[in-house]
Amino acid sequence: MNLALWLQRSAQRDGERTAVAHGLQRWCSYAELAQRAAALAAWLHGCGVEPGDRVGLFLANRPEVLVMLWGTWWAGAAAVPINAKLHPREAAWILGHSGARLAFVDATQRDELLACGAGCTLHTELPPLPAADTLSEPVPRADTDPAWLFYTSGTTGRPKGVVLAARQLRLASFGYLSEVQGVAAGDAMLHPAPLSHGSGLYHLPYVLHAGVNVVPASGGFDPAEIVELAAHWRNASFFAAPTMVRRLVDHVAAIGRRPEGLATITYGGGPMYLADIERALQVVGPHFAQIYGQGESPMTITVLPRDVINDTAHPQHRARLASVGHAQPMLEVSIRDEAGATLPAGTTGEVCVRGDVVMQGYWQQPEATAAAIRDGWLYTGDIGRLDDAGFLTLLDRSKDLIISGGSNIYPREVEEALLQHPAVAEASVIGRRDAEWGEVVVAYVVTRTPATASDLDAHCIERIARFKRPKIYRFVDALPKNNYGKVPKTELRDIEARRSDAG
Ligand code: AMP
Repeated sequence: MNLALWLQRSAQRDGERTAVAHGLQRWCSYAELAQRAAALAAWLHGCGVEPGDRVGLFLANRPEVLVMLWGTWWAGAAAVPINAKLHPREAAWILGHSGARLAFVDATQRDELLACGAGCTLHTELPPLPAADTLSEPVPRADTDPAWLFYTSGTTGRPKGVVLAARQLRLASFGYLSEVQGVAAGDAMLHPAPLSHGSGLYHLPYVLHAGVNVVPASGGFDPAEIVELAAHWRNASFFAAPTMVRRLVDHVAAIGRRPEGLATITYGGGPMYLADIERALQVVGPHFAQIYGQGESPMTITVLPRDVINDTAHPQHRARLASVGHAQPMLEVSIRDEAGATLPAGTTGEVCVRGDVVMQGYWQQPEATAAAIRDGWLYTGDIGRLDDAGFLTLLDRSKDLIISGGSNIYPREVEEALLQHPAVAEASVIGRRDAEWGEVVVAYVVTRTPATASDLDAHCIERIARFKRPKIYRFVDALPKNNYGKVPKTELRDIEARRSDAG
């Protein structure tokens, strides 16, 4: 199917309802969104874009992005959304790799993109879209035809283009509706996070059920604006990286009043530490759900639903809160060893996933696809373990594992311990090469109030095995963050290597 059918149907059923809002203002109705998407599809065809072609979207969040995306689908083409914070050189590479025929880009990026050799036509605005009495039909597509090329953050080497078809996008949307938050017409999805990533995936169930997709006027994440938008649009949900949750919590704590109009804040994309989610629940209220996924299994590996998070009376409550939840219904999760054998509950290994929601493959990279999907199972590169009740605790990316004196140390466990100390605001733990131990544990720490290495060492001794304690503490003003708000450990390891080279 062509996903544009969802928009067409919402326009038929709920044409007058607000489809897209910009800040506090209605930007267009469902009838208008469908009309513009159909007109843009005709324009794209006129530009030579054929079904199956790729259309790049290198844009900061603004309402027009949704017209461009739905117009691309209506035309039967595949969208290549690119995080607006990427360097134009990286975006040009992605446009070239995807073979995009045409791209919509922010005006501020156009010249640099051209200088970097983006080899396709670039448009900075929507063309004039004439109104028509009858809409064309969306171009028919097969369920497995590429719809969204999702370029991974590329922490190792070049990004890879995860091919998502209608099948994956539909299942990811159903996962949201059944596991995270049901949507009724008029419910709001706020987009403080990039539409090129999780927030964009989460706008689909809102189009399906005629909700309101709200693009903040700031185009990004401003906690005060989010509070205002939630109060205005009501039943408001949004996707947030853990760093955004932290900033929202600080803001709400400062104003001393819980926000109104919130439905569910879904966090994911990186580790949420127990201390942080406990504070978030206390300060903001019972509005949180967690998902764990990756581009290759979009927003859908596990879910920690609101009712589990809020079930404080459950004997396993804290352990569950520290987990990433249980498998989503459309897939299987298993923990495997390096040889591909399934490991029993309680054993640590690589998280593997099987189901129709798993990507079609990487765009034009058959070897990378064959390395990631083996015997029908997607190897996520994440290390974790399941408990008897099916809850998955994620330890780390396999490449972040520290091996010191022959023992495995999962940075996340050390970070969780450090964050229990009241002075520690943020912590990220890495391994550093060491002649004696192979690697030693180094903790990068941002403090709220003064603390010394020996304070933190005494704190760790009470909580984790002695060999897991950081040998070195680096007190810093801030941790490096990538464009998705994640701490890129590769970068932290480089910083540490330069530091130790310099003595
Ligand atoms: P991406 O494909 O860029 O969305 O990155 C996916 C990776 O982010 C996963 O493989 C995990 O390593 C990490 N990740 C995603 N969700 C979570 C989560 N809820 N908790 C911890 N790590 C996560």
